[in-house]
Amino acid sequence: MGGLTSAIAFGGANYYFSNTSPVTPVVEQVKPQKRQPNKDKKAIQQAFHELQALLPSEHVTVDEETLQLHGYSENSYHNEGTPNIVVYPSSTEEVVQIVKIANKLNVPIIAFSGGTSLEGHFTAPEGGICISFTEHMDKVVAFHPDDLDIVVQPGVQWENLNAQLKEHGLFFPMDPGPGACIGGMVGTGCSGTNAVRWGTMREWVINLTVVLPNGQVVKTRQRPRKSSAGYDLTKLFIGSEGTLGIITEATLKLAVRPEHETVAVCDFPTVRDAAAVVPDLTRAGVQIGAVELLDDQMMKAVRMASPQLGYEEKPTLFFKFVGSKAQTDHEIKVVSELTKKHHGGKFKYATTQQEKDELWEGRKTCLWSATLLKENASIWTTDVVVPVSKLPELIAETKQDVSESNLPCPFAGHAGDGNFHLFILFDKNIPSEFEEATRLNQNLIERAIKMEGSITGEHGVGFGKKKYLRSELGDNTIDLMWTIKNAMDPKGIMNPGKVLPDPK
Ligand SMILES: Cc1cc2nc3c(=O)[nH]c(=O)nc-3n(C[C@H](O)[C@H](O)[C@H](O)COP(=O)(O)OP(=O)(O)OC[C@H]3O[C@@H](n4cnc5c(N)ncnc54)[C@H](O)[C@@H]3O)c2cc1C
Repeated sequence: MGGLTSAIAFGGANYYFSNTSPVTPVVEQVKPQKRQPNKDKKAIQQAFHELQALLPSEHVTVDEETLQLHGYSENSYHNEGTPNIVVYPSSTEEVVQIVKIANKLNVPIIAFSGGTSLEGHFTAPEGGICISFTEHMDKVVAFHPDDLDIVVQPGVQWENLNAQLKEHGLFFPMDPGPGACIGGMVGTGCSGTNAVRWGTMREWVINLTVVLPNGQVVKTRQRPRKSSAGYDLTKLFIGSEGTLGIITEATLKLAVRPEHETVAVCDFPTVRDAAAVVPDLTRAGVQIGAVELLDDQMMKAVRMASPQLGYEEKPTLFFKFVGSKAQTDHEIKVVSELTKKHHGGKFKYATTQQEKDELWEGRKTCLWSATLLKENASIWTTDVVVPVSKLPELIAETKQDVSESNLPCPFAGHAGDGNFHLFILFDKNIPSEFEEATRLNQNLIERAIKMEGSITGEHGVGFGKKKYLRSELGDNTIDLMWTIKNAMDPKGIMNPGKVLPDPK
């Protein structure tokens, strides 16, 4: 089994619309409680001493720079605070003991994996203990190629995992931010460009080992690829962002690498034309590998960064085709016809690896290229998702909104599943620009909810979007979430201040 037989270290980069209906709740719900923030410095000191007694001294730190690294993110504008202590456990048992100390002393616990999340997910508004996984819990525990699954610790980075799996002809299809690790990917319920073909994290986790807020360990189920035994506790933890428990092991499904993969690119006169290809493609039954939409602003940025690639400054669709050669040849033909129907320009597809790399380069480098559109720009990356048929409308309305703004807002979307990413460029030192960025983000979120969409397709809720969740889901659904939260974490120590909107 090559590199996957033994424990392998895989280091992570450290780096309203109310739809509330006036129906009676179906269950008697626990009244949501507001947590009293822990202001007890003595408790933190006591926790530090107990953690030092528990772990090797170098696995417990209060180093200021480390605390900052684990509480703040360049990728987020919702940075609310740092933890007081960072710990690096080596096993589930050590996590149990850490959580027991935190529970006894009523100190918050924040899990940290790759640190690439975008909505202030791991910031520590109440301080507390950050449990970091990339240092010593970054191993493959077991590899079952015949069953197409692998058991990993939370600090395993997805790119490293795929590099190791390549020689076995396998891969794990999630592709979130560079450096993201399995713990955080489960935490956020991530996906990426491959989701249109392969689905999201919610479909690719078989079971989880979780340390609950009281220190109890649960394994959500056994290892078969399907099971109808009881509640789906695995999915309960996926997307829970460390607010219900700490994941210490995950069994992931694996996919067989497609026999053949190629890419194609086509530009369009308007973004509405480009977006209109997507529902047609879905209805035509094309099993596309990826379909990514970049608007004219984003293509302008790509042209500025890489003029040699020869892209036009027009809305452009990037397609990925995967499968057998015969299947991809057929799908290229179908998709090429669909682009013509929607006034597409030249449909360029790759016939060699070099052409493939060159054609996809624009998609790969677009986020970095976007920074060229404004001096001193920070990028506020926000994502929403709508039913695919509503995507052209969402895009057209958003385009109108951003055209009236003084901030450049290029966009790129995983268009195949209706997932739309707006990149708002603003100078964070200018308050009026921050306010404008906030307004554009809120408008986008409200537009998506109005179109039966979601406030986030893959980045998660974190701190930044929790105030919008009630508008999307309604009071009863939020109350049910609070009931679950309060039942599992009555002291509210697990990643306080995230996901759930404040109780009314
Ligand atoms: C350049 C860039 C591109 C991106 N592109 C995408 C994309 O295409 N698709 C996408 O989905 N996302 C994308 N993201 C967002 C990000 O990569 C994902 O949200 C990713 O899943 C976060 O993983 P992480 O390991 O960095 O998690 P972290 O940031 O470490 O944590 C995320 C959340 O999970 C919790 N958590 C971490 N570890 C555990 C654990 N062991 N147990 C319980 N909870 C835990 C944390 O407390 C936090 O709430 C992008 C980010 C960047 C910077």
